[in-house]
Amino acid sequence: MRNVIIIGSGPAGLTAAIYTARANLKPLLIAGLERGGQVTLTNDLENFPGFPEGLGGFEMYQLFEKQAQKFGAEILYDVVTRVDLEGEVKKVYTADQEFEAKSVIIATGSTPKRLGVPGEKEFIGRGVSYCATCDGFFFTGKNVAVIGGGNSALDEGLFLTRFAKKVTIIHRRDRLRADAILQERAMQNEKIEFIWDSIVDEIVGKDGVESLKLKNVKTGQITDHPIDGVFVFIGHKPNVELFENSIDLAPDRTIQTDRRTRTNIEGVFACGDVQDSIYRQAVTAAGSGCQSAIETEKYVAELEGKAYPGK
Ligand code: NAP
Repeated sequence: MRNVIIIGSGPAGLTAAIYTARANLKPLLIAGLERGGQVTLTNDLENFPGFPEGLGGFEMYQLFEKQAQKFGAEILYDVVTRVDLEGEVKKVYTADQEFEAKSVIIATGSTPKRLGVPGEKEFIGRGVSYCATCDGFFFTGKNVAVIGGGNSALDEGLFLTRFAKKVTIIHRRDRLRADAILQERAMQNEKIEFIWDSIVDEIVGKDGVESLKLKNVKTGQITDHPIDGVFVFIGHKPNVELFENSIDLAPDRTIQTDRRTRTNIEGVFACGDVQDSIYRQAVTAAGSGCQSAIETEKYVAELEGKAYPGK
């Protein structure tokens, strides 16, 4: 029986691993399919405190992992296929193993929805981005496109005007989904222009993004638009498939937690993007991973009838 199993290897999961390992809980972290999570999609993280020269997303993941292992966290490069969390003994399954634990920390993150068009996958990190906060700076003085018509697209589009020469918001309808206040701000911003009723048919380039092929959904006409970067904000999908039958979800399908990262099931905590649809930053994910770890430490101490220092 393990003290704690952490599911997910992004900043939230690995921070939880660092803290629970230092608390001598000997955590097992199951890394999942996309090791390191969304942070590894970013070439250069310049906003994580402590790294004034910036840091590659994958490099950051490796450092987090090294730090967790240094304190004795066990990391398993496998994928959780099933969980049974309701009893006092939590069960976590991979394809060929079964684990039992006193507590579980869910840090499975979220996945930016992809357009699924030719060129998108090829140019991730070379002109295609899902994070304006992470990558906007690299497009200083350049022309960028933002795909989507919701709050994220407009929020991030407005943020990108700090850097870009021009931001073209491309939406598949002729009306935005975003809140009125954001619409108003975007409409009034001189750097923002809109292309309506259009979807991306292909992202074109050689070493990086050079243009977009856009299809007008009303006329079917395909046109070329030279562009330096494409930011896709067509929604995020919290990775909750394993838990949706047992854990309460919020209306936006993130895992519902209280201020102490506790889910509706005792001994099960959730941190990072799987329970946050607002901030979604590496640093906030790491912060909530720390909260889950401290809560886990208290929970395990209570189970064992020990007093938790400082409680
Ligand atoms: P969202 O509200 O689901 O909007 C997604 C947008 O992408 C919609 O405009 C949608 O078009 C478009 N879209 C979806 N699939 C597409 C595709 N395959 N191709 C082209 N366009 C596509 O997602 P979100 O903007 O990420 O927001 C998620 C949640 O976070 C929302 O509840 C939002 O209010 C909240 N949020 C709030 C703020 C804020 O308050 N400042 C900021 C960010 C996010 P249609 O409109 O045609 O469906």
